Amino acid sequence: MREQVQEQEGPIRVVVDVEGIVQGVGFRPTLQLLAEAARLGGSAQNRAGSVRLVLTGPRARVEAFLETLPARCPARARIERMTRREEGPALGQGGDARFEILESEAEGGHRVSIPADLALCADCAREIHDPGSRFFGYAFTSCTHCGPRYTVVDGMPYDREQTTLRRFPLCPDCRADYKDVQNRRFHAESIACPACGPKLGLFGVDRLEHGFPSRFELIRQARRWLKDGRILAVRGMGGFQLAVDATNPGAIERLRNAKNRPCKPLAVMARDLALAQTVCRLTDSLGELLCGPERPILICELQPEAVFEGRLPLTRLSPDAPTLGVMLPTTPLHDLLFSALPGDPTPPFDWLVMTSGNRGGEPICITNEEAFERLSGIAEGFLCHDREINLRCDDSLLAERDGAAQMWRRARGYVPERLRIASPLQRTVLAMGAEWKNTIALGQGDELILSPHIGDLESPEAMDGLEQVVSHFPRYFQIEPEVVAVDRHPDIHASVLGKKLARSRGIALLEVQHHHAHARACMAEHGLAEALALVFDGTGLGTDGRIWGAELLAVNADGFQRLATFCPAPLPGGDAAVRHPARQLLARWLSLGVRPHPAWLERLGVTEKELDCWTKQIERGLNTAWSHSAGRVFDAFSVLLGQAPRTIEMEGQPAIRLESLARRAEASRVPELPFALSTRGELLEVDWGPALAPFAGRDPDQLEDPAELALAFHWALVRAGVEMVRHGRACCHGDLPVVLSGGVFMNRLLHQKMVQDLSATGARVFVHRKIPPNDGGIAVGQAMIAGGGG
Ligand SMILES: [Zn+2]
Ligand SMILES: [Zn+2]
Repeated sequence: MREQVQEQEGPIRVVVDVEGIVQGVGFRPTLQLLAEAARLGGSAQNRAGSVRLVLTGPRARVEAFLETLPARCPARARIERMTRREEGPALGQGGDARFEILESEAEGGHRVSIPADLALCADCAREIHDPGSRFFGYAFTSCTHCGPRYTVVDGMPYDREQTTLRRFPLCPDCRADYKDVQNRRFHAESIACPACGPKLGLFGVDRLEHGFPSRFELIRQARRWLKDGRILAVRGMGGFQLAVDATNPGAIERLRNAKNRPCKPLAVMARDLALAQTVCRLTDSLGELLCGPERPILICELQPEAVFEGRLPLTRLSPDAPTLGVMLPTTPLHDLLFSALPGDPTPPFDWLVMTSGNRGGEPICITNEEAFERLSGIAEGFLCHDREINLRCDDSLLAERDGAAQMWRRARGYVPERLRIASPLQRTVLAMGAEWKNTIALGQGDELILSPHIGDLESPEAMDGLEQVVSHFPRYFQIEPEVVAVDRHPDIHASVLGKKLARSRGIALLEVQHHHAHARACMAEHGLAEALALVFDGTGLGTDGRIWGAELLAVNADGFQRLATFCPAPLPGGDAAVRHPARQLLARWLSLGVRPHPAWLERLGVTEKELDCWTKQIERGLNTAWSHSAGRVFDAFSVLLGQAPRTIEMEGQPAIRLESLARRAEASRVPELPFALSTRGELLEVDWGPALAPFAGRDPDQLEDPAELALAFHWALVRAGVEMVRHGRACCHGDLPVVLSGGVFMNRLLHQKMVQDLSATGARVFVHRKIPPNDGGIAVGQAMIAGGGG
């Protein structure tokens, strides 16, 4: 009755701009279906950064439509904001007009939204195994719910013409699907079929293409190679991966040798969730994460050994830690590699290693030519295709912490989703990130856009990757930076590039202290304007020219005050001492004035002469850096307990091994390691001398149970952290929240116990979830500080 009364008012016309994840996820087709069901007219149009929705019809129906829209979005869409632009009486017979999808509009607001890539959906997966479907066995099957987005995009708005798929004009069947409002492929920009779309190519180690009568034969051959133990380079969504049969120890060893990567963990892909659950401890929510459209790698705790013994050589997949990085098939090509199509004699695979298709610390290859060039000597076959990848995007990596996931490497599936911040930035900013695990960030208004993981900037290839993202990102998102933020360390490649950029564009430059950036990254995530930040980290240049890395900072919008740290320890030879961690333990003893028992030198492979040389270096301050870092204390204890390798293979390796050792200890029998506290002005310093010194004079073979000592060390660090925070709270006279950041907090034992013990003192503790605690999150903090965010 009420509706009838209102309908007598005559139809209205409203114009609404809808922002959020609304492009590339089937949003406009859903609007059309819903509008038609509600008997409303109007239109939907992709604009740069939003969808403009026009509705005409009786007011009550229009209002009901808008009110219920957020709940009726397609699964992968998310409305973040709806802004009414216009409202008035409908023109002409607006009440019964049709609803149409209009050509995209490139002009518009500044908020550009490029959708993230979406993993293969269940409907498409069914079709590629259905002999009756035209998508049977087709590796580029996609729809509005799945397929590449960010990685194929060239510009905005998100339309086929703006992607690398523009080279593949739709065939009549695909065009019909694209135009059919009832079809899952209605206005899906990434669609293709065997008649019109991209094709696979299989190449031998000689780079010669093998010809096949059909796509089925090609897949069959690739699967046979995997079964035979070959290392296959597979062109994925955001770059190449290297695949081997994960149940074949010989193949894993060849891959490790070829990549010169003896211990670094290798991620595996499980055929399905049920298989992953036989090896990994997965809660329902973690299982959902693995199956979700982002389909990341999740670092999992393992099931008790008996369940999987003999099926997966876990100690070769992850030699240093009792965990496994696992993911599920992401693309139709993965799915086809796992499961045999009819007529294929190779049985289904349960597990395939899927590791980054790169050499050493380089970025992953994205073009076929790059792969042929840079993966030669590693790959023993190349499964390529001709759908170009425009933007590099690694697999994302998360780990379980306190039952929920924590981001460690943010890339495919998450990029370029925006991060909302609590109070808007005062100026647009480009933040250049750190030297390791580099990412960059753009900030404007109340949004930050974090780039995908770019990597360690030590190779020319990695620098090329950084330069590409730095030149593309602002253009894609139509954000013109007013300030460039860099780390204050002058030698960091990203800082050098950032300074050059600021100079050439004549814009402001701000240098940001590394741990201040860590703190603000975690605060931004939780909308905190003020906090105490406990940052346990590897290396970062402090404001006093020393290397910091175990910092308690009181942070607000104006800056920070350093309230507590660890006493500095010498690094004779600088970075060489980080690469060869035995030096660090010995140097700590030397700086304490204690000479190690001769058996230590023998065990650590160090001569008296070297020891004398380091003593002189430390005394005279020659070629010796001093570090406050928590990561370096881990190094020293890892050496002490026989865990650190002579030369480290990757950042944090001594700490990872020390944690693995500690996990084998019985928690009830842990000795208490002493440390000393002292204050200089307001600065509290934690001295690890009392914990380390007593071991110097002892025979290394006569130590107590190393696992118990390893656990004791973890608990001592937690006690030190609690003392630092207690001191900070006393200095600040307030109940400030506490944030934990820095790469050292990727340590599970340390993270859990620190959260637990700090919470027990009454502190409100916040940890990273969406932004990495490691240097991959630095750009976010830099952007907050340089952009003047609250
Ligand atoms: Zn699909
Ligand atoms: Zn087609």
